Amino acid sequence: MTLDVSVAVVGAGPVGATLATALAARGIRAAVIDAAPLPPMEMPEFDGRCYAISRGSRPLLEDAGIWEHLPEPPCPIETIQVADGEPGRPPSRLGLTFRAAETDVDAFGWMVEARSLRVALNARLPALPSLSVFAPATAQVLERGPDGVRLRLSTGQEITARLLVAAEGRASPLRRAAGIAVDRLDYHRMGMVGAFAHEYPHGNQALEMFLPNGPFAQLPLAEPPAGSPFPHASAFVWSDRTAIAQRMMALDDAAFSRELARRVGDALGQVALVGRRWAYPLKAMHAARYTAERLALVGDAAHGIHPIAGQGLNLGFHDATSLAALVAEALDAGEDPGSPALLARYQAARRPKTVAMLGATHALERLFGNSFGPIRLARRLGIAAVDRIGPLKQAFARAAMG
Ligand SMILES: Cc1cc2nc3c(=O)[nH]c(=O)nc-3n(C[C@H](O)[C@H](O)[C@H](O)COP(=O)(O)OP(=O)(O)OC[C@H]3O[C@@H](n4cnc5c(N)ncnc54)[C@H](O)[C@@H]3O)c2cc1C
Repeated sequence: MTLDVSVAVVGAGPVGATLATALAARGIRAAVIDAAPLPPMEMPEFDGRCYAISRGSRPLLEDAGIWEHLPEPPCPIETIQVADGEPGRPPSRLGLTFRAAETDVDAFGWMVEARSLRVALNARLPALPSLSVFAPATAQVLERGPDGVRLRLSTGQEITARLLVAAEGRASPLRRAAGIAVDRLDYHRMGMVGAFAHEYPHGNQALEMFLPNGPFAQLPLAEPPAGSPFPHASAFVWSDRTAIAQRMMALDDAAFSRELARRVGDALGQVALVGRRWAYPLKAMHAARYTAERLALVGDAAHGIHPIAGQGLNLGFHDATSLAALVAEALDAGEDPGSPALLARYQAARRPKTVAMLGATHALERLFGNSFGPIRLARRLGIAAVDRIGPLKQAFARAAMG
């Protein structure tokens, strides 16, 4: 029997699954389809991958009932310290410190383990009566035209929908099939991510250190996994030249921990890698359009940015917030949730904001990835100046909250 829904979401990664949940939590009939089985995505072991969820993303997760299902407490980021530095040397004293308390909020954002978010999503997806989940399954588009969309799943199930959402990540087959072009930029760097345990408390402070080959971020975690050698833990996002990153990834855990220590400095005492470490090539990408007939792109299917500002996933959450609100508004008004007018509103709401974020992260990467002496000095003075100019500092703080 054909299943008829308002919205069919292809891809149940963090963005697609959150969007489907947010729609269904409002009583909107939706289906979500993922090529991979969902339970293995919530691996039982701590794996070191974490997300910085900005203040602006939290309401989406709360309204969708996901936040309350997080199995471990998210760690608030109350202070962000920005500094210029070099491996093995203390950060420049011309730094910049953002304190949430100075901006009248309790936190800029929260650190959440990727596994924790998956556990919460997997708990929420089957609990919503207006949501149908198909995983593992793939979807073939039989028809995408003025009247709607018709899909046939690999399970044999047929689905009709008013709106199709591509949430299958960077390689998005739906985006490609719609002929939407993509701009790409290769930073020729790799991002290494993971977690480490440390001797002294982090005080819910994050450090963004601009090293000559790329930024290094330490982000506070609520607690270390069981059996850690030290009582506190943080995540790291370390971007470096590809050849160096490959060398680092080939080191054993003890040698890698020593390299981490050279970048983190002394403030956290002794450090040791915990869980796995991951590396991925840093490439920005951006779809020329976020929509086609009856189709909307969300998350990494639409954009991929440098991790320098930790906003990659948050951009996807903002896509989901915007699209869920537009669809709900249309349905409340008895209108078509996949109409050209709605899709134009979605693109107008999201694409310029993502362009601005892509531009800002690119400029930061270029400015801070430069070790030429005069530029480094100007950068250090600039950082110190921002620290003293209240309104400018406030503007940066608001951007960090997403
Ligand atoms: C190694 C690594 C580490 C990262 N670390 C961080 C980090 O620390 N912090 C951070 O903010 N961001 C990080 N990112 C980026 C972050 O993971 C992405 O921004 C985020 O996952 C995007 O979510 P998404 O749901 O749009 O896409 P994805 O997470 O890519 O999810 C896509 C989903 O679609 C499914 N799918 C794919 N093809 C099909 C198909 N044909 N049919 C049906 N389903 C399909 C996949 O199975 C998957 O579940 C990292 C990325 C990588 C690769």
